[in-house]
Amino acid sequence: MSEAYLPFARPAIDEAMIVGVADVLRSKWIASGPHVLAFERALADYHGGRPVRVMTSATAALEIALRLADVGSGDEVIISAQTFFAAVNAIVRAGAKPVFVDCDLVTRSIDLAQVEAALSPRTKAVVPTHFPGALVDMDALYALARRHGLRVIEDAALALGSRWKGRPVGSFGDLVAFSFHPNKNITSIEGGALAVNDEREARRVEALRFHGIVRLPDGTRDVEEAGGKFNLPDVNAKLGLAQLARLDEFLAQRRRLVAHYFAHWRAEPACLLPPPLADNGCSWNMFCVLLPLSRLRITRKQFIDAMHARGIGIGISYEAAHLTTLGRRLGYREGQFPHAERIGRETVTLPLYVDMSTADVERVCAAAAEVLAQGAR
Ligand SMILES: *Cc1c(COP(=O)(O)O)cnc(C)c1O
Repeated sequence: MSEAYLPFARPAIDEAMIVGVADVLRSKWIASGPHVLAFERALADYHGGRPVRVMTSATAALEIALRLADVGSGDEVIISAQTFFAAVNAIVRAGAKPVFVDCDLVTRSIDLAQVEAALSPRTKAVVPTHFPGALVDMDALYALARRHGLRVIEDAALALGSRWKGRPVGSFGDLVAFSFHPNKNITSIEGGALAVNDEREARRVEALRFHGIVRLPDGTRDVEEAGGKFNLPDVNAKLGLAQLARLDEFLAQRRRLVAHYFAHWRAEPACLLPPPLADNGCSWNMFCVLLPLSRLRITRKQFIDAMHARGIGIGISYEAAHLTTLGRRLGYREGQFPHAERIGRETVTLPLYVDMSTADVERVCAAAAEVLAQGAR
């Protein structure tokens, strides 16, 4: 029996979404227009009325957020060494210095005690990255930021729909960046959004995502500060809006599949599993485990290849951010952030997406158990 290949992530796109996108194409109004406005209104509604503006990616949202926070040359921004490259790059591109700290081994959330210890007179902002299944203590994070006058830029690329004490991430706090890449909780093909504090910041985002342009009363245009070209097309916004309408259903299905992983995971030698499925409203964009490499004869690459041979896709999220060539050039080295480094070496992302079945989850669990048993020392 040949079974279908299970990728580690895949978007859920229904026929109505395809028809919706086709309708936008047929309308010939395909760049930013009414569907962008509708998507932004729906996102603002989801986030308790806070202003939300969409753009071409979470990476663009992070770059714009750093501009709103006036982060520039000579500033320091504290960030976990366990994060995606995007925020680190954005900090460097802003002319500032990323100051890395470690994370919790299980939740992968930024270590707030280390944030406090890394503060300097030049610290402008802190960038927590939200991982599936848990959030950093948001009350403690914002109390720390208030105490020290810091801006907070939440990298919530993976976390649309995650809740803290019942409130969606992005409906409170400071600047919050989301991604609508196909692997995330909803997709607009590529796309992202930034939740901001007020209409003044929202207008600045509108300028920064489109050449810095502001419209004058006489119908001409002015540029006050240099912007980029990050506006989201209506084609993408139409898809994003239809996806958002199904977000809560998507998140419920992800939770069901994660519960099934926890119930059926039997692999030996034991992997370090993600934080247990709690009734805390956290979204599950990925299901990542740490391989027990010290008890295996096989490498992570061999594990991934063996799973691939069984028709199962495996991802890696994320390599330790301070150990890239760029990070090393900034003076970072091995041994500084043991948790981030161990995650970087051992983590694998198992298939998890809305159209998956619980039988698929059992197939992944059985294949992983077989590969790990064969690879044990
Ligand atoms: C995917 C991701 C990003 C980048 O999102 P894009 O929309 O592709 O720019 C940033 N941060 C984290 C944590 C991510 O997982």
